[in-house]
Amino acid sequence: MPELPEVETVKNDLSEKIVGRRMVEIRIRPARIFRRNSSGASLRKKLVEKKITGLERRGKALLFTLDSGEVLVIRLGMTGQIMLSPEPVRCRDKHTYLIATLDDGCALRYRDIRKFGQVFVTPLSGVEECLQMGPEPLHDRFRASHLEQVLDSPARIKTLLMDQRKIAGIGNIYSDEILFAAGINPLRSARSLTSREMKRLYHAIRQVLRDGIEKRGTTIRDFRDGLGRPGRYQHHFRVYQRGGQTCLICKTTIERMRVGGRSCHFCPSCQN
Ligand SMILES: [Zn+2]
Repeated sequence: MPELPEVETVKNDLSEKIVGRRMVEIRIRPARIFRRNSSGASLRKKLVEKKITGLERRGKALLFTLDSGEVLVIRLGMTGQIMLSPEPVRCRDKHTYLIATLDDGCALRYRDIRKFGQVFVTPLSGVEECLQMGPEPLHDRFRASHLEQVLDSPARIKTLLMDQRKIAGIGNIYSDEILFAAGINPLRSARSLTSREMKRLYHAIRQVLRDGIEKRGTTIRDFRDGLGRPGRYQHHFRVYQRGGQTCLICKTTIERMRVGGRSCHFCPSCQN
């Protein structure tokens, strides 16, 4: 599932190529990913002949600002992919649901095998209300004190880190790696963290996410960047998907268990 580093990578790749371009043709294949729009026809009308004036990321969502004053929001869900092809696509791929042909002849397309993504257009002023997300962890204004506020809960730290309403952009992979980097056991109640641990966690969040961006994201199955290439962060995992292997720091066996319905990997000796 794409998390903050993957979506940031796609955004960076696409920005320079699509900002300033006009969408001259829109093709939509009806699917549940469009359910937030009143209809496919209304979505097409809101996109066709509109110029893309900016591209931003918010959590795991991409926000394409349009010259109409509205925003095309794309949440990638589990398996969503956005790709730019250098020529118009005559697409027979059954997993492609939206193709926007741009005025330079390139085509932007949205593909989603499991269809858990969301694609909709909303006025700029309504974006935050639609997304309901917590703060951006890499934002300049995001401080350790904000983290302390959002994590003031008896719930497990692993579960809270993945809760998009608490903090935006972190999912299963990066939460495992962040908790390892911070030396914190994923089963701990967030409220039990000392202020020292909270500071370590704050720095680990920023470090691991920045590292993920620097490695252009993680590709396990589906993730491809804006030009169809895989990421490299999967070669740098320290705990994720390393259950049964030895810890790179202390040689203890990495454990794998289920937490809140998700897999969770950690070193029982490095993470207290
Ligand atoms: Zn260890």
